[in-house]
Amino acid sequence: MTEHIDIDGEILKDAPRVSMSRRRIIQGLAAGSVVPILSSCATNPATGRNQLLLFGESQIAQMASTAWTDMKAQTPQTADSRLTGRVNRIWGRIADASGRGNEQWDVAVFDTDDVNAFVMPGNKVGVYRGIAEFTDNDDQLSSVLGHEVGHVVGRHAAERMSVSTLAQVGLVAGQIAIAQSDELRQYGGQIAALGGAALQFGVILPYSRNHELEADRLGVDYMHTAGYDVKESVRLWEKMDANSKGQRPPEFMSTHPDPTRRANDLRNYINARGYALI
Ligand SMILES: [Zn+2]
Repeated sequence: MTEHIDIDGEILKDAPRVSMSRRRIIQGLAAGSVVPILSSCATNPATGRNQLLLFGESQIAQMASTAWTDMKAQTPQTADSRLTGRVNRIWGRIADASGRGNEQWDVAVFDTDDVNAFVMPGNKVGVYRGIAEFTDNDDQLSSVLGHEVGHVVGRHAAERMSVSTLAQVGLVAGQIAIAQSDELRQYGGQIAALGGAALQFGVILPYSRNHELEADRLGVDYMHTAGYDVKESVRLWEKMDANSKGQRPPEFMSTHPDPTRRANDLRNYINARGYALI
């Protein structure tokens, strides 16, 4: 039932209402009517990275809210109060460490075996019983939750949607919008230089790989601030890797490939930041 759910806002692709909204946005972009609301490129205060953001957080939160409601209606939530207590306690510490602990969060613990977790725009967090059971300790679960809040702080859903929207726009009617907008013009050359396939594989995919790396690093920062053992993040990935040859590899891996590489990246980052020596 939850097979179509991926982390990192992949769920957006499956939500019919979102694609309609996106189509409308594309039409608006082409007609120039959406252009004035563009804030195009913004610097993320947490990462210092410049991001193309065509949508505000509240806009994409609205788009995702139906998908979240459906998800909660279709997937049973656990009645195990010890499990929800554990997830909420770790989540609270990690959210505080990320600086977003004072916000309203909707954390659901789904009662399925899926070894997965995800965040959706609008501060929705989904954690499956499967991944909670897969982790050896709270430190490992904090690494999963740290990664997820890293996607939120990194504004990855909005960025990803903006880039893919622009990719679609850029191929056809977008040239009009590009010509009309100072903000878009700076991306015009880039878009025109790349074909559809190049955009899909050359821009969008590495983009999400970068997002995963950024979320990993932010997650480790939050683990460290919250007082969790950052070394457990590396152990978690090694465990995922060891389990990937089994009959049912952890779903987390389908959206998070290369566990070995990620464990290495994490190890290097942890050593470089001086959080620990591993
Ligand atoms: Zn991720």
